[in-house]
Amino acid sequence: MDRYAVIGDPIDHSLSPAMQRAAFERAGIDACYEAINVPAGDLESALPRLRDLRGFNVTVPLKELLVRRLDEVDPAAQVIGAVNTVVLRRGRLHGYNTDPAGFSATLQRLGRRDGWSRVVVFGAGGAARAVLYSLAGLADRVVVVNRSLDRAEGVMALLNGKGVVMLPADSRLPAEIADAGLLVNATPQGMKHLSDLSPLPTSIALRPETDVIDLVYGRMTPLLRAARTAGCRFLDGLEMLVHQGAASFRLWTGVEPDIDAMRSACLAALGIAEPC
Ligand code: NAP
Repeated sequence: MDRYAVIGDPIDHSLSPAMQRAAFERAGIDACYEAINVPAGDLESALPRLRDLRGFNVTVPLKELLVRRLDEVDPAAQVIGAVNTVVLRRGRLHGYNTDPAGFSATLQRLGRRDGWSRVVVFGAGGAARAVLYSLAGLADRVVVVNRSLDRAEGVMALLNGKGVVMLPADSRLPAEIADAGLLVNATPQGMKHLSDLSPLPTSIALRPETDVIDLVYGRMTPLLRAARTAGCRFLDGLEMLVHQGAASFRLWTGVEPDIDAMRSACLAALGIAEPC
């Protein structure tokens, strides 16, 4: 039986085992998929064990750290500076980042296939970098808002000269949000442990023409509530999660997964009936 896993720390909350087991079962592939806790400090010593797997997913805090420790890294993952999927081929570890595929699927699900003139992205971490990679060529102007400016400035290279970075308290932010066709939360604000927080200042109202995507999944976050109140089209991060997982599955097996089964497994694990 082939072995797969997700590695990270903490890892107990991960939906990947439920989602990938559903995909393997539906595809009739005899494989096991486990969650392995690997703290950042243990990554080096864990690598020999990971070579026993056919492939694995990577989550916080290892996505960036692993890039420098793999045998091969896909060009997109190099640009993003993070890997979330590893495939073992002939004893060599190949790294990929399937988050842009997940985010692109979210855009399609939202119903927009053309570009946006203006996009505001909150956050400048690994998820934000994948979002910015997906948006290249779709947006005319991208504003990255982050609480630490130095990290935000680190994503400028992904913006192809079409972006600006600013702090949440920047006086230009209300005008940028008023003009935005798409707003994306790529910070943990709104997650269970930060459930009262929104990246959108309460003083700023959304226009109904602004589409909103919150990468936090499985809960009606303050940002999504604001989007609903304003009459915006909105989606949480579940679609991105499912489609990045589907892209990992394709890389490992070459088989098209049952995406509905993967989504249903996530919803069951979250204990909810439908995505937000
Ligand atoms: P990360 O690399 O640690 O980056 C986190 C980002 O959020 C940084 O820009 C950080 O700002 C900012 N941030 C952290 N805590 C904050 C707070 N309390 N207030 C304001 N800003 C805060 O994490 P990541 O991997 O990019 O993940 C970010 C979010 O995306 C998480 O909620 C994660 O669950 C979600 N995500 C979802 C999917 C999906 O498939 N749906 C995939 C990946 C990630 P500083 O730079 O100032 O620290």
